[in-house]
This record gives sequence, structure tokens and C-alpha cells, in this order.
Amino acid sequence: MVHIPHLIVGAGPVGLILGHYFKRFNIPFQIFEKQSFLSAHPSAHYLNMRTMEILDELNIQLPLENIQHFSNYVYLRRIGEQPLNSTRQLIDYKQYSYTSYAHLPQSLFVQHVQQGIRDKIQLDTEIKKIEFKDKIIKFNDDITCDYLYGCDGLNGFVRDYLKIKLIGNRDLQRFLNIHFTSKQLVNRLEQYNSMLSFIYNSDITAVIIKHRIEDGTFAIQIPLDLLTGKTDIQEVQHIKQDHVLIKNLINKTLLNQVNDIEIKSVGFWRMGAVYAEQYYKNNCVLVGDACHGMPPAGGFGMNTGIQDAQNLAYKIKEQKDLLYYQQERQQIAQDNIETALKYYNKSLNIAKSFTFDINKLKIYQSVMKNTPDFLYQTGVKLGGSLIELDPIYKRLKVDDYIPLVFPKEEIGFKYNSGDIGENGGQLAPLVVREILRKRERKWYSINQCEQDDCEK
Ligand SMILES: Cc1cc2nc3c(=O)[nH]c(=O)nc-3n(C[C@H](O)[C@H](O)[C@H](O)COP(=O)(O)OP(=O)(O)OC[C@H]3O[C@@H](n4cnc5c(N)ncnc54)[C@H](O)[C@@H]3O)c2cc1C
Repeated sequence: MVHIPHLIVGAGPVGLILGHYFKRFNIPFQIFEKQSFLSAHPSAHYLNMRTMEILDELNIQLPLENIQHFSNYVYLRRIGEQPLNSTRQLIDYKQYSYTSYAHLPQSLFVQHVQQGIRDKIQLDTEIKKIEFKDKIIKFNDDITCDYLYGCDGLNGFVRDYLKIKLIGNRDLQRFLNIHFTSKQLVNRLEQYNSMLSFIYNSDITAVIIKHRIEDGTFAIQIPLDLLTGKTDIQEVQHIKQDHVLIKNLINKTLLNQVNDIEIKSVGFWRMGAVYAEQYYKNNCVLVGDACHGMPPAGGFGMNTGIQDAQNLAYKIKEQKDLLYYQQERQQIAQDNIETALKYYNKSLNIAKSFTFDINKLKIYQSVMKNTPDFLYQTGVKLGGSLIELDPIYKRLKVDDYIPLVFPKEEIGFKYNSGDIGENGGQLAPLVVREILRKRERKWYSINQCEQDDCEK
């Protein structure tokens, strides 16, 4: 029987950051990862100000590209055309933090963050079974630990095994998620300086995420219901293998096609807005996506998880009651979910104002589906184009705005209960006490930033 005092399940971004803190605090640990490699899918990409402070605290250096190349959100019919709208997203970060927010694909993030704790990561090791006996946790029959940290993602095993419920909507929307490279697309997007390109035309509704200029890494997310009329992932599994179809889909976002697309991976993303009703049970603690999931607006998912890891590591180091971890971090998850949902709904409004009536298009497409293929293709093209040209839609203006940087959520921390905060746990103007000792800077509390201008 092997005994590991602190066992982290999952070598995603959150498990790795927790590992770094444990190493720093001399807490003996091991990370078990079920896959034989660290995730290669770029998924999340925005590193917010607090996360960058955490990376600084841990002395983790990342190969960041110039954020100016990722400064805009553009709304287009097709890449190559004049944008319907474009919003510049960068704000002066210096009044909030000594670090700037940054941009890096999650796949590169984990590759770099694993350095320094590589010897603590055991790949190809899946946790499949947990037992509790006399405060000792036994798993997979031959290993025991004192504390187990479920950093195993939203569909992870640990929360499920502990029978901890999720509160909220697990299934807001489903996306086809394609990871690909194209240097030609880098050039096509150069004029927009866009991190996100939202595409609305009669063939496709999608968002293209520019992940990395250096090697032309992109992801495209396409709402499954608009693409296939289906939401059951099992029914559309075949799409994953059909690279010709997938390249065609990508080309539908472009005025002029590119021919250097290389498909890296294709998957489905079930996007939800949920948090766990409990963050720990019997010395098993949930961290990151294992205890929350949120829409991508604001890029809170991975950042909230990384900040959970930091909070938890300090609690473990200082032997605090884990209830404090739950009180503080569950509240942050709820706040961030609320903000992410608000901007997710705004993004739906933007889509409506830039595009045709999606419901009418769906009816139109379903009627056309019963017609012979050549008529269907011509019909969708013709009908779609007419809708695109509809002067009513051209007149509509977007007054809703989705920010990228959220100082309130990124830096301001509000704890109604817990152990952090000088005012009896009421308000915590800081989380990183260690960093604060090192540097003088202005910290924002959530209450100081209630006005709209804090969100811009
Ligand atoms: C397709 C996709 C697209 C996304 N896009 C965005 C986006 O655009 N913006 C955004 O902010 N967020 C996005 N996210 C969410 C973001 O990726 C997550 O918030 C982030 O990965 C959470 O990190 P984590 O470490 O908590 O969990 P994960 O990254 O899910 O890592 C969990 C790890 O645990 C391992 N594991 C699971 N079960 C076990 C087990 N039983 N034993 C051992 N190991 C196990 C897994 O293999 C995995 O490596 C996306 C997610 C997906 C899946």
C-alpha cells in the first residue's frame, strides 16, 4: 500500500497550479492524470489580472504574444468583408494590477506550467474508486491519502462519486469545437486585430478564436443546434471524423477560401452555468471546473479555477477550516457565473441584431430539407442571402457591448463569510497576502466598482 499525503486528481490547469503551491509550501503531493498526455486542445485562452499575479507569485514564465494583436472583438458576415461592428477591448490595467492580463492557449499554458513539477505528475493513472476509513482515503485498492483534491473537470469522477449536486443549468448550449491551424487565416485576420471574430451569415453562425499567431492556431465554436438542427451529441458524432465537411464549415466563415487548414482535433462542448452545492466532503475537496462551469464570456472558467487553487493552498498551508474555502470560493463562483450569464445573454442579443431571425431560418431550413438536394442548396443560398440583405437587419445597431477585461471580477474580491478580510470577513480587498507584503499597489474592492464604468 502506497501513502500519498495530498493527492491531486487531474493535471489540467487547476491541478497543476495547486501542485505548484504545494511544492512552494513543502506540502507532499502527487498528481494523477488519467490521460497519457496533457490536454492538447486550446480551450480557454484569456489569463486575467489575478491569474497573472498568481503566476508571478509562482515565478512561472509564459511565452506570451503581444496582446495588441488580440485587442478587438469583431462582428462580421465573412472574414475579408467590412466588419458590421468592432469593439476595442484593452483597458489600462495599471490602475488595477501590477500585471497585465494576457492571452495564451490553454494547451500551451499546461505545457509550460507542468515544468517544475513534472516529476510529481503520474500520467495514465485514473482514479476509479474511493473508500473512506478512519479519516484515511483509499483509492484504486492500493493507494491511500489524507486529502484528495478533485481537479478533474466538470464531468469528473470525484464530485460524482461524492454525490455532490450541481446547482444551475448544466446544459445551456452545445457547441461543435474545432481546433485547427492555418497561417493563411492569420493573414486574413491581420486587419482586424481580433481575438474573437463573430461570424453571422446565412451559411454559418460561429465564433473564431485566434489562439496563437506564431503557429496559426485557431479554434472555431459553432452552435450545434444551428448547424445540425440537433442537440444530441451522440447523433452527430460522425461529424468529428468528416474533415472535408469541417474544412468546408471553416471556409464558410471566409469571403475567399483558404487552403492550408489542418484539423488538429474536433470535439463537443456542453456549456453550462453551474456550481457545486458543496466544495468538500470527507477530506475530499473540489477545485476548478470540478465545482463550477460557466459560459465563456469574460473568460472566467479557467481563471476562477486557478484562483480557487490559490485560495485552497493557503488554507491547507495555514491549516484553516475548509469551510472557509467553500464559503469564499463558492460565492466567487456564483458572482462570476452571474456575470458570465449576463454577457452570454447579451451575446445572444447581438447575434439577433446582426443576423436574421434564427427561428425563421430554422423553419425555412427544415422545410427546404424535404426538397431535393440541389433545390435545398440553392434555396438556402437564395433565402439566406435575401435575409442577409434585408434592410431591416442592416438598420439594427448593436448597443450591447461585451467587455474582455472585468476589473471587478478579476481583482475585486468580496467575501461575506470566510476567513479572509480585515473587517471580520466582510470585505477582502486582497487575497494574495504574500504578494501584498512584497508590493505596494491599489486594490479594488467589489463595492468600489459597482458602477458601469468599472465594467468597461
Ligand atoms: C471544448 C472546450 C472549450 C472551452 N472553451 C473555453 C473558452 O473558450 N473560454 C473559457 O474560459 N473556457 C473554456 N473552456 C473551459 C476551460 O477549458 C476550463 O474552465 C478549464 O479547463 C478548467 O480547468 P480544470 O483544470 O479545472 O479542469 P480540466 O481542464 O477539465 O482538467 C481536468 C483534468 O482531469 C483529468 N481527469 C478527469 N478525470 C480523472 C480521473 N478520474 N483520474 C485522473 N485524472 C482525471 C482530465 O483528463 C483532465 O486532464 C472550454 C472547455 C472545453 C472542454
